[in-house]
Amino acid sequence: MDITRNRPATQAGPAEHFTGTVWLDEVAAPPAPSRLRMFSVHFAPGARTAWHRHPHGQVLHVTEGSGLVQRRGGPVEEIRAGDTVWIAPGEWHWHGAAPRTFMTHLAVVEAADDGTTTDWDALVGGDEYPG
Ligand code: MN
Repeated sequence: MDITRNRPATQAGPAEHFTGTVWLDEVAAPPAPSRLRMFSVHFAPGARTAWHRHPHGQVLHVTEGSGLVQRRGGPVEEIRAGDTVWIAPGEWHWHGAAPRTFMTHLAVVEAADDGTTTDWDALVGGDEYPG
């Protein structure tokens, strides 16, 4: 058993993978054979991920605020505190805050054999993000 009381420093979401101001806090990344990776992700209003997919899927659990999620070919959908989203393995999608509200979610994935948790594609442009 291991109790974490000193967390790694909060990291800014890099501009090649995120639009706007995004902060990531690692909650858990236990050693093998666990493949669990868990982050708390804070999105300022208008901030969002780029298009991406996860090899083993992803659970998003919104803890604060309200935001948006979209899978490729589907509508932009509203999510709010208390909602839980399951994104299927390999499903292209993005997630982020709504235009005028903060959003925080827990993000839970399992890493692939090579350690990959995310494959990234293009940023979500202003034409795709609702104003
Ligand atoms: Mn995702």
